[in-house]
Amino acid sequence: MNNEAVVFSASDLALYARGEGPLKSLRPPVRLGIFGDPVAHSASPPMHNAAAGVRLLDVQFVRILVKPEELPNALRNLAPAGFIGLSLTMPHKQAALSLIDEVDPKARLMGAINTVVVRDGKLHGHNTDGPGLSAAVFEEFGIPLKQLRILILGGAGGAGRAITAQCALEGCPSITIANRNIKKGHSVADEIAKTIGTMVDSIPLDSDKIRQALASTDLIINATPLGMKAGDPSPLPDGMLRPDHLVYDTVYSGGETALLKQARLAGCRCAGGFSMLLHQGVLQNVLWFGEPAPLEAMRSALRKP
Ligand code: NAP
Repeated sequence: MNNEAVVFSASDLALYARGEGPLKSLRPPVRLGIFGDPVAHSASPPMHNAAAGVRLLDVQFVRILVKPEELPNALRNLAPAGFIGLSLTMPHKQAALSLIDEVDPKARLMGAINTVVVRDGKLHGHNTDGPGLSAAVFEEFGIPLKQLRILILGGAGGAGRAITAQCALEGCPSITIANRNIKKGHSVADEIAKTIGTMVDSIPLDSDKIRQALASTDLIINATPLGMKAGDPSPLPDGMLRPDHLVYDTVYSGGETALLKQARLAGCRCAGGFSMLLHQGVLQNVLWFGEPAPLEAMRSALRKP
């Protein structure tokens, strides 16, 4: 039986590490999971449990509610509890950087860890959000990310910074980030220049600056949370999009976000964040098991209501 509707706690994990508690009796045994706060909304369990089913692996993926102050101990309990790997979501992706034994250099450039591999008792941190976005853009639009001039709305947030670093690593011809907090935007642009050597323009989320940037943009990526809640406004004012713009909204709310509606009405090609969620998950699964992941089974599991 899988436990996709259940949210376990950091205390349950601590007990499991000692061979006790509610996680101990579950079959298949729990070997994978996601830490977040909140975590009940996570779409990862069905996706990774479907992959385990196809591969006939005797493992199960569960949600674990871990509060920020519980993260260090919860990470320490992973190896004793027999975990193979872990997914990290808000608010843990940045904090994990200083708590993991070995951090992949690209994850460090992205400023966050969303994937942990447990090997020989050690924790290895990776970031699949950036490469997952790149794979999603190719799948949705049939154009490699590296050929596109990019505008990232919310480029200084967790996902936004990973995407900005990915664009820089791939050598996109131009990268602009628009952030509500302009100081944070400038600081991310400075860090990318220092660490990757790529020039990133940083502008405020302000109509005039955005209009200017859009004149030389191919792909607009929303990395703000606007669109997660029904009734959220678009991060872009109306009337700014042209039919030749591509629009990717990382939000995966299920419905049409206000930004995707603007894009559809302007005649743009556009896509929502499910494909990024899928591809970052596929890359996590490859890191955990060292072999190709069953993409279509994972896609079908995500599509189920
Ligand atoms: P985060 O670290 O909190 O960053 C949020 C970013 O959005 C910041 O740049 C923030 O600007 C900006 N922002 C927040 N509220 C805003 C508002 N009302 N108006 C304008 N800008 C606003 O969050 P995150 O973890 O990066 O997540 C951001 C989004 O990415 C979420 O929707 C999440 O679902 C999505 N995401 C999708 C995937 C996927 O696989 N599809 C993966 C990861 C994340 P300030 O710096 O000014 O606060």
